[in-house]
Amino acid sequence: MKTCKKIGFTTSMPVEVLFAAGHIPVDINNILMSGDPVRHIRQAELKGFPRTVCTWIKGNYATALSANLDEVVGVIQGDCSNTHSLLMMLSDEGMPVTFFSFPPQREDDELNREITKLEERYEVSRNETEKVKQRLDGIRRKLRILDDLTWKERLVTGRENHWWLINSSDFMGDPDGFEERLDAFLDQVRNRDPLPHKLRIGYLGVPPIYLNLYDTITDLGGDVLFNEVQRQFAMPALESDIVQQYLTFTYPYSVFDRLHDIQTEILKRGIDAVIGYTQSFCHLQIDNILLKKYIDLPFLTLEGDQPEIIDQRTLLRLESFFEVHTST
Ligand code: SF4
Repeated sequence: MKTCKKIGFTTSMPVEVLFAAGHIPVDINNILMSGDPVRHIRQAELKGFPRTVCTWIKGNYATALSANLDEVVGVIQGDCSNTHSLLMMLSDEGMPVTFFSFPPQREDDELNREITKLEERYEVSRNETEKVKQRLDGIRRKLRILDDLTWKERLVTGRENHWWLINSSDFMGDPDGFEERLDAFLDQVRNRDPLPHKLRIGYLGVPPIYLNLYDTITDLGGDVLFNEVQRQFAMPALESDIVQQYLTFTYPYSVFDRLHDIQTEILKRGIDAVIGYTQSFCHLQIDNILLKKYIDLPFLTLEGDQPEIIDQRTLLRLESFFEVHTST
């Protein structure tokens, strides 16, 4: 009989394989933000991580070592240029690590090979993986409903949308429990009155490290009706098999794949303006240049660094942006 392990991962990857093997997948980013991120980042800096490395990486390092994880799966291609070195640091601390790569050319044969390698590593068959996918698709269908209730019915706030979609990367380690909470939430919001009309905002980029961005946007007269990357984590396409599912997932591939998805959703949701969030010292800041170039809407780029409430300078930029675009 296999032992159930707590397996951390650095960004969305085929969690179906880990669930099929009877393990508990844990998105390290999510537990970082629900714990004490400042302390973890400080611990990584004391260990020698430079100031000029993204805080998510530093937080992932210290969180992975303090969260009683048995192993870590790191996505070394298709996410962060720093993950390989992060895994070496974790390995040096005695943490068993496994690599996973999304193929840069978005090829199904290559992705199939990567998923097969993962299945071999965790001793599960493709059939077992697909069965878990079907189970999780049932929850993902409900997350699609939640997303529709956000932009069509205006019953769910941008912050709530963010929270549910982001936590679907690992279903909080317990798909049944997650689904139960989701069902209760959907029942509750259906009894709400629709939210008042505000500027319809699209949020692009990795999840914000700011602690109060969604509340600030609401206070300034906007509401986020599209959370780009968080929605991708929820795998809304519900493709027919595991390989197609992770090929349709835009985040690990080129910025143009993301752009296609963004343009479609912006149009469908009637988005009025866009916030392109970037993280200090992140390569995705370069992709944001192209997003800004090709998205023909008012576009505000924000750069966050530490897990903190929004600083005065950023707040001033947000205030000016909303002042201009809520009065037109
Ligand atoms: S925000 Fe960018 S630099 Fe930071 S972990 Fe994510 S991909 Fe890497």
